[in-house]
Amino acid sequence: MANVEFDNVTKVFDGSSNTIVAVEELDLKIRDGEFVVFVGPSGCGKSTTLRMTAGLETITDGELRIDGRRVNDVSPKDRDIAMVFQSYALYPHKTVRGNMGYGLNLSTDLTDAEVNSRVEEAAEMMGIDDLLDKKPASLSGGQQQRVATGRAIVREPEVFLFDEPLSNLDAKLRKHMRTELSRIHSELDITTIYVTHDQEEAMTMSDRIVILNDGRLQQVGKPKEVYYQPANRFVADFIGSPSMNFVEVELAGNTLTNGESFNVDVDDEFVETLRSVSDDTRFTFGVRPENVRVGDDVDDARAVRTTVDVVEVIGSDNFLYLDMDGREFRVRCPSYIEPEEGDVIAITFDEEAIHLFDENSGEALVHGTVSHESGEMPNPAKGEQERAVGN
Ligand code: ATP
Repeated sequence: MANVEFDNVTKVFDGSSNTIVAVEELDLKIRDGEFVVFVGPSGCGKSTTLRMTAGLETITDGELRIDGRRVNDVSPKDRDIAMVFQSYALYPHKTVRGNMGYGLNLSTDLTDAEVNSRVEEAAEMMGIDDLLDKKPASLSGGQQQRVATGRAIVREPEVFLFDEPLSNLDAKLRKHMRTELSRIHSELDITTIYVTHDQEEAMTMSDRIVILNDGRLQQVGKPKEVYYQPANRFVADFIGSPSMNFVEVELAGNTLTNGESFNVDVDDEFVETLRSVSDDTRFTFGVRPENVRVGDDVDDARAVRTTVDVVEVIGSDNFLYLDMDGREFRVRCPSYIEPEEGDVIAITFDEEAIHLFDENSGEALVHGTVSHESGEMPNPAKGEQERAVGN
């Protein structure tokens, strides 16, 4: 086990015609035994960060330390790191046993018997002990993935690096492997850095999530922190599916209004909290789809009236796509709320579920009635939806 520290780490790729800053001044401390997941849109610098950690990419500026030791110039084989790739990268002509033991044979002076014993132990852990004499071509994608992970485990490294290891698997197997990898991690307790596009993977597997955009760190936090207290509009938009709704509003008295049909009253405490962090009058309002309440009282003075564009039935819940002054507004509601397309419905919001962001910088100002600086967790609106619409 080891901690991994990125100290102002920057990576610049110098092309013939342009310069790309893939990672910019990354400051991050990953603790011993922690499972950290990197997420962000394509090209945000996730893989480059991982590759710099493995020593497969040089570091342009800053320092990378593993267990306190500067490793900028240490070769990959001397970093005590094992990496699992999306492509698995198995040797086709070697058996599973051969694939799993190959690295150990090369990099250690363990006897054949010792290598074999480690391979068999890892194979048992991954549930592939009956596949040891097969070749990769005869294995399913899930089995190949297990072999690649098993091969990393036998190395007993200080740090595990995973680069989208489950993205070639179907949805069901991916979920299963997610649980497997979490189990392996809690058994071995090895510091793990995991890159994925899949935010569900990030939310369910990680101790902490690292969100990158355009090479820059946006937020590091526990899954619930980044979900309930996103540091900025980018994180709020990126984490959560369907994503958070945003409306550009002005604060007039105690009302947040977009000047059209969106008018939401907030209490004095909310306004005071907002005033303690900003003198502006214009903000970006945010609310998650599951925190919107749907009622059938279109005359409720506090309600916002909108028209239903599309109703998507997903089984346990319904997704409603509403027309909010020409913009899409998403609601996740219980399946018994079944408005017709074209219906005018009333929606309301709990103050605890409202987020406000700086209109220009996108920085979060208020999460519910709790200011961003306080670090407290707000209590997201989980109340029962009001009476069903259209029933
Ligand atoms: P994805 O999710 O699509 O894999 P990513 O977040 O892992 O993306 P990186 O692969 O780290 O992103 O790429 C970050 C930026 O660096 C991108 O703009 C990419 O085009 C650029 N880049 C990566 N590798 C190189 C390279 N070898 N030469 C030049 N530019 C590169």
